[in-house]
Amino acid sequence: MREFTYVSQAARVLFGAGTLARLREELERLSCSRAVVLTTAGQADLAARARELLGPLAAGAFTGAAMHTPTAVTEQALALVRELGADCVVAIGGGSTTGLSKALAVRTGLPQIVVPTTYAGSEVTPVLGETDNGVKTTRSSPAILPETVVYDVDLTLGLPVPLSVTSGVNAMAHAVEALYAPQADPVTDELALRSIALMSAALPRIAEDPADLESRADALQAAWLAGTCLGTVGMGLHHKLCHTLGGSFGLPHAETHTVVLPHAMAYNARAVPDVMRRIAEVLGAADAPAAVYDLVSALHGPVSLGGLGLREEDLAKAAELAGGASYPNPREVTADGVAALLRDAWEGRRPA
Ligand code: NAD
Repeated sequence: MREFTYVSQAARVLFGAGTLARLREELERLSCSRAVVLTTAGQADLAARARELLGPLAAGAFTGAAMHTPTAVTEQALALVRELGADCVVAIGGGSTTGLSKALAVRTGLPQIVVPTTYAGSEVTPVLGETDNGVKTTRSSPAILPETVVYDVDLTLGLPVPLSVTSGVNAMAHAVEALYAPQADPVTDELALRSIALMSAALPRIAEDPADLESRADALQAAWLAGTCLGTVGMGLHHKLCHTLGGSFGLPHAETHTVVLPHAMAYNARAVPDVMRRIAEVLGAADAPAAVYDLVSALHGPVSLGGLGLREEDLAKAAELAGGASYPNPREVTADGVAALLRDAWEGRRPA
């Protein structure tokens, strides 16, 4: 008999093309008048655009957001926030920029408006991952959840195809693991399956025509749904492996998710055949793990950890780190099982 407890996260979400123009009205809605705009160095032009849109409501900008939210970068941004007397943060960018926004919010209590430009989904989760002295830790709190999310499809039109593919599969990973989470519920299941269907159909169309607005809208909507799943239920072996590979071996986030996902799915398949059948159904394939691998290969995405720069001699250490911790996963996590999974992922073998 099914049994579940469903708790949703509060969210205000604006979705459309050109919605960045509504930034000022969203700031006023939060009764804010001194925003600090956050971006990476590579997206500094967006910080300038946002400041222009906000006019006198922009107090300044910090354009140094970095991957895995290093605390040293957060301290620099925090000093600027205090110096400017900011009363909110506006983050425009991928999961790294959202991470900085969350790190500032949790330290200051300031409200956040997040404008995502990748498919990472962090904007709708109460989770913050931070790196200090090379060690990545995560924490979760309602105070971390952004107040407002502005999805502007126009801002994703220029997301390069390789990053669109890996970021899209990163979103699919949230949806896949939500389907076999111990807290799984029917609402989250529906969001997850819809997300996988939208994303898997959108990515090949994006690869063909990166500026197609409808395909980009499908992918961004799928990212929102997947992020919502991630924010509602706990994740399993796949996320733990990617966290370890990113935090301890410096592998890039979305690319690592892309390589590991088919193998984590294959590992868990025998424990959750019904989940895999439902995923295969929305992918229009016979076997879900192989279908995800084939999708990535067809889009020229990364398929091997070796190709991402993980050294063969690091496989045992990675297996030990990821296999050692206890966390919920549908199939028992054993040292041998994880070692075999990582070996397959390192070689880039197609799941049988
Ligand atoms: P990212 O934010 O690091 O972005 C990658 C690069 O792409 C950056 O240089 C960025 O400036 C650039 N970029 C972003 N959008 C672009 C666009 N539209 N056009 C051109 N360039 C663009 O990568 P990511 O994969 O979005 O995020 C990864 C980070 O997010 C990791 O630190 C990960 O741990 C975190 N994350 C956290 C959660 C959570 O719930 N806490 C969820 C997912 C990811």
